[in-house]
Amino acid sequence: MAGIKRIRNKGLDDPFIVDDHTFERFSQVNDVFSRSMWDDRVRDDRSDTFFATYRRPLTKWRKANGFTQRDYAIRNASWHVADIFAEMFEAHDRRDGFLDPLSMLRDGASEQVDVGPPDQASRELKQVSEVFGADLIGITEFDERWIYTERYSAADKAAKPNELPDGLTHVVVIGQEMNDSLIKTAPSALSGTATGLGYSMDSAVLLGMAQYIRNLGYQAIASMNDTALAIPLAMQAGLGEYGRHGLVISPELGPRFRIGKIFTDMPLASDTPIEFGVEAFCNQCDRCADKCPAKAIPHGEPDWQPVNISSIKGVKKWSVDGEKCFSYWSKINSDCAVCVRVCPYTRDYGKARNRAWRWLAGTRFRGLAMKIHDATGGSDRLKSNDWWTG
Ligand code: SF4
Ligand code: SF4
Repeated sequence: MAGIKRIRNKGLDDPFIVDDHTFERFSQVNDVFSRSMWDDRVRDDRSDTFFATYRRPLTKWRKANGFTQRDYAIRNASWHVADIFAEMFEAHDRRDGFLDPLSMLRDGASEQVDVGPPDQASRELKQVSEVFGADLIGITEFDERWIYTERYSAADKAAKPNELPDGLTHVVVIGQEMNDSLIKTAPSALSGTATGLGYSMDSAVLLGMAQYIRNLGYQAIASMNDTALAIPLAMQAGLGEYGRHGLVISPELGPRFRIGKIFTDMPLASDTPIEFGVEAFCNQCDRCADKCPAKAIPHGEPDWQPVNISSIKGVKKWSVDGEKCFSYWSKINSDCAVCVRVCPYTRDYGKARNRAWRWLAGTRFRGLAMKIHDATGGSDRLKSNDWWTG
């Protein structure tokens, strides 16, 4: 089809099909969380309450399993570290990790260390990431397509420049595991603990790794939800494949991880995208679309149609309706991870039987893998009270 470019990255297909004629870089102003501050189509009393519950745990909102004060207490505590960074420079119109990169408070070295050939530098950086606590890591080239055209200023309720230094060449992408047993209780305030811990761990690991790179004399911008779209960078860095629910599915953790990234000019060797049968599986599986309480996940094939202004234009993919998704979050006063819970790829790959399932899911017997998943109650919800009693 004319105008459609499937970009080659070291001989492997670009994970997304991008149409050069209709593609437009994304502005963070149109991200649904930014819109919840400026756009009346997303913002309402419920969404204001939703955000407020992260600072002041609800005590008597609902008696329902998973939404008691105890559940909000643990959820909010899990966010505490990420919140400290996010709120540290709010007076300067910064929300570190969400609307702005994480602030680096200590200078790096003024002279660059010779880190050797790129392969060696990447290997050493991966070793450092492991001891610092990163669960997944991949490296890709700096790709301007996924950099936000603008950041969002919460103070001005308007766009502000997305400034990055010159000379950045690579993006180090990390993944932080989200706790399996907590995810099984979704939707609940309790399951939001997995999200909060993912962000808090992400902040700590990113800051440590970025400072290490700076101590070698190179630039390092540590970023979570700010600065750039994480999903395409994670796929290009080889962390996993794109799923119908709009999340990256990795062979090690399925979709159960949060993504962080570091932009750098350190001379590194890049990883390549991977493929293990997820797209073919999602083409046959609709579990996330069927079970999404907001009906925000599409059925059918990937397409070019943006759902609303919170979708990127000119990329062929499954696009989740962020407005519907966020509206449901506001309704239940917590983030929802039902799509992660019901995804058959959400399983513990430390177990041989689950590695065997992953292999089967990547073959033409994927239908059998789905049947096994359903027959063994793979998507079942764990009651929050049962989580608390162990
Ligand atoms: S988080 Fe919940 S509401 Fe949003 S897409 Fe996933 S299942 Fe649907
Ligand atoms: S639930 Fe099924 S369709 Fe949805 S992302 Fe997972 S494997 Fe794909």
